[in-house]
Amino acid sequence: MFSGLLDVARRNIGVRLSLWYALIFIVSTAGVFMIAYYLLAAAIGSKDREVLEARLKEAAAVYDAGSLDGLRNWIQAQPTAVKNTMFVQWGNLLLNAPPDWVTYRDIPGFQGYLRLPFIRVPLNAERDLIGGRARLSDGSLLVIGWTTNSREAILNPLRRTFILIGSVSLALGFAAGVFLAHQAMEPIQQIVATARSIIRTGQLDARVPVRKSDDELDDLVRLFNTLLEQNETLIRAMRESLDNVAHDLRTPLARLRGTAELALQPGADPAAAHEALADCVEESERVLNMLNTLMDITEAEAGMMKLERRPVDLCQIAREVIELYEYVAEEKKIHVTCDLPAPCQALVDPTRMRQVFANLLDNAIKYTPENGGVQLAVHCEPNEAVAVFRDTGIGIPPDEQDKIWARLFRGDKSRSQRGLGLGLSLVKAVVQAHGGKVSVSSQLDHGSEFTVRLPVKV
Ligand code: ADP
Repeated sequence: MFSGLLDVARRNIGVRLSLWYALIFIVSTAGVFMIAYYLLAAAIGSKDREVLEARLKEAAAVYDAGSLDGLRNWIQAQPTAVKNTMFVQWGNLLLNAPPDWVTYRDIPGFQGYLRLPFIRVPLNAERDLIGGRARLSDGSLLVIGWTTNSREAILNPLRRTFILIGSVSLALGFAAGVFLAHQAMEPIQQIVATARSIIRTGQLDARVPVRKSDDELDDLVRLFNTLLEQNETLIRAMRESLDNVAHDLRTPLARLRGTAELALQPGADPAAAHEALADCVEESERVLNMLNTLMDITEAEAGMMKLERRPVDLCQIAREVIELYEYVAEEKKIHVTCDLPAPCQALVDPTRMRQVFANLLDNAIKYTPENGGVQLAVHCEPNEAVAVFRDTGIGIPPDEQDKIWARLFRGDKSRSQRGLGLGLSLVKAVVQAHGGKVSVSSQLDHGSEFTVRLPVKV
């Protein structure tokens, strides 16, 4: 049974805590009791000693004044209660003795006790003997003593009461401790149960009930639930991404295969075969591009993207990117303007930032109809560098504005345009990897505005 209790204590924090509290309770209460017991016993002893010394002094004075007869008279003058318990011995002569004296004086070593300045000897379960001696002026020895209630008899009830009250309160305290600790540990047990159920069933939607007591354990439960929530979202997103990637790869790969088969057909026209192979290269380029971008996004989101950060003027990057898209914009008759009032430095990886700017400018041109306008503005705020990409394009419906950042999402109206649905996911992941933010505000059929905010210092 004891080993069973030990096992429960080992595995149950509540029982362990209660055992510790019980131990501390026993040690501290026993300590307090022992001090009180010792003080009480000492108080009883010192009172008796004072009375004895006073009597010895009085008797010695009487003897000095009136010799042995004076002493006898002094004894006779004592109240009966005193006379019946006190014994007085002068030299070897017994002057007074209590009625049960005969039984005491046969106690081994009793006469030896009487040679001591002060003694308190338990005679039996109920009586103690108190005694002491004084040397009188003529050199003779006077011994006075009396029997009194046993000190043990006085202190025993106290000891019994302590043991009784101590054990009852210990048992109650232990039971209450186990109960309260069990109540307090309930959320932990629920966390364990929820984790077990998720591991066993694989169902990620299990949550720990919140008690609304607003204590640390409630915080823990909330944090644990948030963690589960995030894991569930992440795993769901990963599954969806995987599905989408599989779905999105199927079409170009099928096309690739079809084109390659065409080129391999016996007797195919060499020019057509050449063209088919060129298509294959283009298609595989697209697939590779998509996989690389997906890997970049994953790396950036996991905080594993290697950024070679250095102070870079974002206006310079803006100019380079505008130059890169000059031809595309011209083709579409889109008027690209820039507002770059002063150099604005930020600590960024220039290659990655060029990728961000290029994606946003590419989208702005892509989703703006002919003769529209696109503006790229960069300015510095006290702690941030801000780049704004405005266009007068098709805009984004309000219900899509939250979704555009998700991998492989493509707006309904954008399907006619080339694209993989990965550009904005990469923009967001890279900007966040730099400690920045990207946001959108857009009005359907009027245009969109994407704002990138980057910290000036790390
Ligand atoms: P892609 O452009 O390849 O479709 P993105 O991730 O770059 O993928 O963009 C996701 C979606 O966000 C686009 O399909 C489009 O619907 C919307 N979008 C992005 N930029 C703009 C913009 N400047 N104007 C209108 N819609 C945009």
